[in-house]
Amino acid sequence: MEKTVEQQLLNAIQFATEKHKGQFRKGFSKTPFINHPINVADILANNGEADNIILLKAAILHDVLEDTNTKANELIENFGVDVCKLVLECTDNKNLVSEDRKQAQIDCVCKASTNAKKLKLADKISNIKDIIIDPPIGWSIDRRLDYLEWANDVCCQINGVNEKLEQLFNNEMEMAKIALITEANLV
Ligand code: ZN
Repeated sequence: MEKTVEQQLLNAIQFATEKHKGQFRKGFSKTPFINHPINVADILANNGEADNIILLKAAILHDVLEDTNTKANELIENFGVDVCKLVLECTDNKNLVSEDRKQAQIDCVCKASTNAKKLKLADKISNIKDIIIDPPIGWSIDRRLDYLEWANDVCCQINGVNEKLEQLFNNEMEMAKIALITEANLV
């Protein structure tokens, strides 16, 4: 019997939670990594994408290829080709060094599918919030500002896919910059 949308989403959460087991976000608060993909899916669901089941599943799974031992075949078997393709679109090429990976995101975003653009926006929105609230341990203000600038270079190229998300990204970016500049002046 075909699984309901709710069952499919719970399966994705179960799968990603298992895969990311033992992983934490880079900040001081030692947040379990799985909080991040769930947050990305939540941002999408609350900004016009609640009925976009392929996108929501891919959001929950968007880091399993990049950050765990998951193989693309597993995603196809469990969640179908469309979800797998979307996750692949949001997975960095690990053969590239960090700087080249970042450049690749800037270069490739225009060619991405509509769903991949939405996922990238929500991913960056989630990361921007963390950069302010719970930044990676050891990151200076300059490094955090560099991150914001890079995220902006990627996402400023995205328009016309979801106005709410695009607006939210711009707002979060603006607030994050102000928060960091204020923090810099206090140090
Ligand atoms: Zn992510």
